[in-house]
Formats: sequence, structure tokens, C-alpha cells
Amino acid sequence: MGELSNLFEAREVRPASEIGKSLAPRFGQGVGMEAYPSSLTSAPGGIALLARDGLTKNLLIVAPEEAVPGWVGDFHGRRTVATIEGRRFVILISELSHENALALRADFPYTSPRTFGLKTSAGLGDRLGVGTPGHIRAVRGTGIVPFLAQQSIREMTRTHRSATEVMDDATWGVFQEGWAQGYGSDADHLKTAADIDATAAAGFTMFTIDPGDHVDNSADSASAGDLEAKVEDLDWSGLEASLKSLKRAYVKDIILADGIRIAANEEMFMRAAVKYGAAVAHTAAMYRHLVSKMGRKPFELEMSVDETQTPTSTFEHYFVAKELKRLGVKWVSLAPRFIGDFEKGIDYKGDLKTFEKSFAEHMAVVKKLGPYKISIHSGSDKFSIYPIIARLAEGYVHVKTAGTSYLEALRTLADVDPALFREILDFAFARYDTDKRSYHVSADIDKVRRSKDLRDDELASVLDINDGRQLLHVTFGSVLTTKKEGAYLFRERLLRALRINEDKYYDVLRKHLGRHVAPFVAR
Ligand code: ZN
Repeated sequence: MGELSNLFEAREVRPASEIGKSLAPRFGQGVGMEAYPSSLTSAPGGIALLARDGLTKNLLIVAPEEAVPGWVGDFHGRRTVATIEGRRFVILISELSHENALALRADFPYTSPRTFGLKTSAGLGDRLGVGTPGHIRAVRGTGIVPFLAQQSIREMTRTHRSATEVMDDATWGVFQEGWAQGYGSDADHLKTAADIDATAAAGFTMFTIDPGDHVDNSADSASAGDLEAKVEDLDWSGLEASLKSLKRAYVKDIILADGIRIAANEEMFMRAAVKYGAAVAHTAAMYRHLVSKMGRKPFELEMSVDETQTPTSTFEHYFVAKELKRLGVKWVSLAPRFIGDFEKGIDYKGDLKTFEKSFAEHMAVVKKLGPYKISIHSGSDKFSIYPIIARLAEGYVHVKTAGTSYLEALRTLADVDPALFREILDFAFARYDTDKRSYHVSADIDKVRRSKDLRDDELASVLDINDGRQLLHVTFGSVLTTKKEGAYLFRERLLRALRINEDKYYDVLRKHLGRHVAPFVAR
């Protein structure tokens, strides 16, 4: 009884106390639901917790009947009264709606995303919207900051989710776990001002600007004459510079850090200016739009050119970063297109020694012009290079993953609903040739065994070979959005299977993403 009263005497928001965890089940039982103990959070005069009624999750707000605090009015739900340990409580049973997510983020600030500057971090994209607790378990105790709401506009379109849903799903996951150490949110691969507007309105705090459409990949092989013409055509007013002034700044011996230098000649400069000049101007314009949009709200920026055809050389990285700086852009991370192949869902392809040398050079640019974090896109499953990156980046790193969590959802499914997994696998075979077009993959799907040739206990083995991983990786959009007679073919059944078996899914995620995070833990 004394302990129970203690819960209501908090002066500030206090999540996941031991007392709260031990008492949470009683409040759930009070309304016939099963509580998530870690979610119980005390606030002045009341508590909030998550509880489930079958597969439906509810937010419960509880306060003593005689003294319901004002903030309870911020939440919308059904009011009921229950007697727990002889004391009468008002319990508000609330849906996990957008308006309640907004109220939660306002009244329980730890459930709001925030900025983290240069802290070592991992992007843990969750395309299905039910994986956040598993992602939190993967980083818990590591000191690595999780970016839990992370989705590109392209993937929102492909998964039929809005920026608001992505943000709210992460919020509820954070609340469920009582994760008070903070999380980031990455509006990934933004290409237009409208992309910024939509994700800023949804509450995102990190914005990844992708000026890839403005990168001129032909610059690497263009003739001297073509380069001259192209460089004339650059947006010089956007760059706030002249060709002459830039040449003077770049055609010279450049001393970076760690004894690394670049003897930059005119040709290198011309190719870099043509390749990235327009991308720099576009990024600066996007940054300014963001500044005006966010006003006084804190935010952070990443610039990514990872999805371009040719690798970013050391000199090009230097050019891009120095130009952004000159134009007043402030950023926390930058994603070059690295040497070698960063295919989706599988390990790095390429020579490790060459990668190491090139990564060390990129870090020399970071040390000279930053510091800022190097962002590793398509960063999942790159187990062979993590140790190299971790050693050279000295903590200035952000590793971005997304699709791998979808693959782990399918691994869970193979175990809990083999029949549905078989349907999805067969469907993926039929879709692969169409769906692979916009992805960087190389799978030979003839090497993947068909569902009819696999026993139930062999199904997950499809996810243990690269060809199978890519087959299932690039088809996620079709799997999640294909409809038949107006209803989703797989989406609802997949989500239902994961909800029924959520602890199993969280555990699979914890193990798999834990392997991604472990190499970057400071020792
Ligand atoms: Zn990317």
C-alpha cells in the first residue's frame, strides 16, 4: 500500500522504476489487461503505462479518484474507475492514436526524439513499425545512441506509412520499454523542400539531405572540353563563388590530418566541381529551408551521397565538406559513397585493405574539417568492415540499418508461421526481377531453394545465404503493400504473427542488431 502510494508522489516524470515495474501488473489487471511492466512511468499525481488486451495495446493513465491532475486532460480515452488495494483510481483507457502520441511526447519528454550531435549512434530503421523494443534491447547498456524513427520518403511510400506513423510507432516502442536515455529520429534521404516539410511536421529531429539527383556521375569520365562546358553551367550564384576563386582554393597541395595530403591538380578540381558542385548548392538551399522551417527547435543534419554510381574520392569529400562549410551549412554526419560494394542486406564486397586505406583518408578529411560523424549507409550486415571502421572512426560514426530488421521479421515468421513464410517466399520469387531495379543487389535467385523443396525447419536457411537475403530484401515493398480484392495480401497477417510472438521477434532483433552495435562500443 505504501509502495503503491509512492508511485503517485513523484514530482517529475520518472520511468521504469523498480517499484513501478513490480506494481504495473495490478493496474493492468484492474481493467482486465496485461501490463508492460517497464512502461510504467510516474508523473506528478498520476502514472501512465502500456497494457495489452489480446493483441490491442492501450495506454492507461491512472490517478487517485479524489485528485486527478490536470495533465490527464491531454489524453483522450474511455474513463473508468477501479479499486486497487482498497483505493479507488480513475483509469483512462486510451488508444495508441496520433493525438495520444502527441500528448505523450509533450507530457513525458523522454518519449520525444532529440538531437545527439557527435555521439556514436546507430540508425535502426523499422519498416514494419513493431520492432522498436527489440532495437532498444540491442543497444541497451552499450552507450550507442539509437535512432529509432528512421525512414526515407521512398520507403514510406513503399510501405504505405506516413512520417507521422513512423514517428508514433517509435514513440510507443520507447514508452513500452521505458527507455529514458533518449533516441534520435532520422528523416532519411530527403530530396525536396516538401520532404523536409512533411517530416519536420511529424516531429523528426535529424534530416538526411540526399542531393544525389544533382550529382553528375559523368564527371569521372568526361573529356576536358565537356568539363569546361559543364563547370560553366554550374549554379554559381547558389555556390556564392566564381570559378576562379574556387580554383585558387583547391588546386594546390592540401594537408589533411594523420600525415595524409592530396596534391590536387586542375583536372581533379574540375571533375570534383562538376560532379558535386550542384549537389553542394542544393544541400545548402535545403539546409536554409530547414533552418527557416525549424525556427528555434533543435535539429541536426546529415548529407548523404551514398546512392550515387561512383565512389567519393578523398579529394571530392574534402571539396564537398569545405564548400558546405563555406556556405554556412552545419552538419553532424556525412555519408560518402565508399569504395567497394555496399549491397543491401549482405556483407561488404571488396578488398578490405583498399577499404581500410580509403576509410583512413576519409577520416583525415573529417579531422581536418570537422569533426563530424561518418555515416555508413546500407550499413547492415557489413560485419567484415565494422572492426576497421570502429578502429579508425574513433567514435565519429553513425551506422544506418533498416532492411535487415525486416529480414529478421521474416526469420521470426519462418519459425512461428511457416505457411505464411512459404507464401511470401513464393511471391518474392515472382516479384524479384521487377523489384530489384531500384536497389543495389546482385543476387542469383536460382541459387535460392524454393519453398516446396524446404522442410519447415529449413525455411529460415533462405536468410542465411546472400542470394536469399537479397531476394527477400528488395521485395519488401511488394510484400507489404500488394492487395487482393481490396485487402492486403500479407501485411496484416505478417504483423499479426509478429504481434502474437513479439517477444520472440524482439529477441531475434536484439541478437542480430546487437552484433551490429557491438564493434562500436567504446572500450
Ligand atoms: Zn542511404
